[in-house]
Amino acid sequence: MAKKIQMKTPLVEIDGDEMTRVMWAMVKEKLLTPHIDLKTVYYDLSLKKRNDTDDKITIEAAEAIKKYGVGVKCATITPNAARVEEYKLKKQWKSPNGTIRAILDGTVFREPIMLKNIEPAVRFWKKPIIIGRHAYGDVYKNVELKIDKPGKAQLVYSAENGEEKCALIQEFSGPGIIQGIHNTDKSIESFAKSCFTYALDQKVDLWFAAKDTISKTYDSNFKNIFEKVYKEGSYKEKFEKAGIIYFYTLIDDAVARVVRSEGGFLWACKNYDGDVLSDFLGSAYGSLALLTSVLVSPYGFFEYEAAHGTVQKHYYKYLKGEKTSTNSMAIIFAWTGALKKRGELDNIPELVKFADNLEDATIKTVEKDLVMTGDLTRISNPPAKKVATTQEFIEAIAKNLEKKM
Ligand code: NAP
Ligand code: MG
Repeated sequence: MAKKIQMKTPLVEIDGDEMTRVMWAMVKEKLLTPHIDLKTVYYDLSLKKRNDTDDKITIEAAEAIKKYGVGVKCATITPNAARVEEYKLKKQWKSPNGTIRAILDGTVFREPIMLKNIEPAVRFWKKPIIIGRHAYGDVYKNVELKIDKPGKAQLVYSAENGEEKCALIQEFSGPGIIQGIHNTDKSIESFAKSCFTYALDQKVDLWFAAKDTISKTYDSNFKNIFEKVYKEGSYKEKFEKAGIIYFYTLIDDAVARVVRSEGGFLWACKNYDGDVLSDFLGSAYGSLALLTSVLVSPYGFFEYEAAHGTVQKHYYKYLKGEKTSTNSMAIIFAWTGALKKRGELDNIPELVKFADNLEDATIKTVEKDLVMTGDLTRISNPPAKKVATTQEFIEAIAKNLEKKM
């Protein structure tokens, strides 16, 4: 066997919960460690460990990504009331992804893995559409009032120095509703920087859309900040050099163009648009299990993961000793994304090549060999030749990978 690939800087490895934790270990054992002298700094973010450390482990993991630059994360349970009971938790800990995102000030980009045998619902799409969602403010941090009698609703802003600004929302003649939303220039700017950074990183065009014709102050502010970051952040020159473009249009026009496009660009979305459109795109491309996700901070840190959760239902079957057929593709691509990035930053071409080979071997297993997990057999054309168990699928990939090494 050839010598194992050596790494320089370690990856920040963040382990998680349930079925994804099971697959995490299998992927490392069967696909990574046979070929790479894997160097990681390991953080166990299983719910038990988070509870034992009063969630300090999550903060340490995020700080480690700041230190080393690149992380790879397994899915983790965000506890609800049932989980508090199940794991006898001290409290209902916050979402680890939320905590990490807040520390890295990052934006999440989701990208589908495309396969010839899994046709997107939109037949024009030949390449993936990456979606980036602004994850702060707007309707997700709103204040709402129900109005039950006639009266005047106003927007009032009182500056610290006593100045006031006031605008009439509506004179109500009967019952109605009002809503107050906000955003900050700082957050929009971070979002814009993450989007420009990631478009450059992936060498794809960047689209951004809002409704500035109707929302002349609020949405125009988004448009203006993107324009400012593009020009002042010297992205304009970098984009020209990379042969990619920044394109702004109205959100309804963007949706119409996206459906007619062949894909292959990054679509930056305001919070609500991103919420709706990422589910739309995820489902239109085929399966949740094919969606990868990367958190990109405006300071250039990267954290890769699968977009799906811990696949709890499959895990309970696994615990009972029953056979499972859980798809590990998004987890594998989280690792290849992180290894590729590490290889580029540390100038280790063999590591980048290995990540490409592993992606090819994974795709070949499904596309050519037609060996796949249950979620894909339901939508594959031509139909699957073999419905693989969780483990058989990873072993089939390992065989294809072996041939490439
Ligand atoms: P989920 O884990 O994404 O799974 C929902 C369903 O989608 C599964 O039951 C399964 O459908 C299908 N599915 C998802 N991933 C799959 C895969 N790799 N292979 C095959 N099928 C797959 O969502 P959930 O069950 O609602 O959430 C479970 C836990 O995950 C929760 O505690 C939640 O807090 C956590 N979560 C974590 C993250 C994260 O860390 N990034 C994200 C989301 C959720 P079938 O049962 O029909 O086969
Ligand atoms: Mg949604």
